[in-house]
Amino acid sequence: MANYYCVMCSSEFDPSDATFEQLLVNDTFFCRRCWTDIMTSEYDSDYVLQLS
Ligand SMILES: [Zn+2]
Repeated sequence: MANYYCVMCSSEFDPSDATFEQLLVNDTFFCRRCWTDIMTSEYDSDYVLQLS
């Protein structure tokens, strides 16, 4: 089983704990906490591009 590390806070997380929304877009780059922050603060179609 692979370990996943959040690209935002660098903490390890369990991808099986991903939210339903994450699974819909096949997005497991973020831990659930950061994903929730993104969803509530700046959710749009190109948020991933803002990381670079
Ligand atoms: Zn995180």
